[in-house]
Amino acid sequence: MPFLTAKQIHDGNCWLPEGSVIEVSDDGVIISVLDTPVMDAVFYEGVLAPGFVNAHCHLELSHMKGLVPTHTGLIPFLKNIPQHRNDYIDDQKRMARNSGHDELVRNGIVAVGDIANTNDTMDVRSLDKLHFYTFVESIGFTEANAERSFGYAVQTYNTFATQQSANKVLKQAIVPHAPYSVSSSLFRLIDMHREDVIISIHNQESEEENKYYTSKEGEVTGLLLALGIDDSFFYPTGRSSIQSYLDWMSQHHPFIFVHNTYTKHLDVQYAHSRLNEVYWCLCPNANMYIENKLPDINMFISEEANICIGTDSLASNHQLCILSELYTIKEHYPALSWELLLSWGTRNGAQALQMQHTIGTIEPGKTPGIIQLTGLDTANAKPLVKRII
Ligand SMILES: [Zn+2]
Repeated sequence: MPFLTAKQIHDGNCWLPEGSVIEVSDDGVIISVLDTPVMDAVFYEGVLAPGFVNAHCHLELSHMKGLVPTHTGLIPFLKNIPQHRNDYIDDQKRMARNSGHDELVRNGIVAVGDIANTNDTMDVRSLDKLHFYTFVESIGFTEANAERSFGYAVQTYNTFATQQSANKVLKQAIVPHAPYSVSSSLFRLIDMHREDVIISIHNQESEEENKYYTSKEGEVTGLLLALGIDDSFFYPTGRSSIQSYLDWMSQHHPFIFVHNTYTKHLDVQYAHSRLNEVYWCLCPNANMYIENKLPDINMFISEEANICIGTDSLASNHQLCILSELYTIKEHYPALSWELLLSWGTRNGAQALQMQHTIGTIEPGKTPGIIQLTGLDTANAKPLVKRII
């Protein structure tokens, strides 16, 4: 199958001229992109595009599908997770994890930024289909316990680091869970662990997080109490969460801020002015599941933000599908073009995970995977995705 063409081809950046042809080797390496027709090219209906990148997932939580009710708001959702996450035996978790992995592959995803609290996902990382950047999440709000919390994350990180693959990307980093669950000391330890790694963090997923940092009001204290944490040491900063915790992090890490449902102009400007490389990962279906609210996407566009897309976990989503995430954005923001949305789901995701040299765009030398999309502009029906290469 050396030459492929379609009604429309999106190369990860934009639409290619009509009649363009992709030349690809049997093992998926792009050989050339031609802007003139080729006689024996295989023609596909709909759109051809590079494989999707899921910049935020939790394959580890796949067994929690359908367990937590929708629209509870973030704080009740978070209280639900620890109650249920260990209700299952290892075999059930393993099967759910594998089926989550297969769902990602089926939905045309070629790489995943995957959150881990344990080493459970070593098995799916060892499969051949997906590139992984595993974010080992460190949690601990009590200042005095920072070393202990960090030590646990280092152990998990080190075990992941023993895993290697000759034919795909396999990376890992220790990252903070969220502003309300990581102390300033733990932020600093995470920051200093490895200079060259990505920092990914759940950011401003709830207005309660901003209230807590600004004035120590709202529901976060109740959440911490329910988790047995005494927060009497915490003093509000008078600023939003992101404008507070970035004081404890260095600018040299690439950052992926995830969710951003309650992020404002000033927060984006603050991050852009302070950090070298910033990506804003939107998980619209999870936002609708938990908070029934989407981030202010036009605000991010007006700030020229790099937007990428994640699914979050099956605890807060009905599927692991980047096309479904883009479709939800398109439903709420019909003026946004598929040309722009597809670049968020492909090129920007690859850049966010620092995998742009391998995937994300259809360019000679890369192995991005090729997907076929049909029904993008069909009214009242969800579009479909199929992996071609
Ligand atoms: Zn998440």
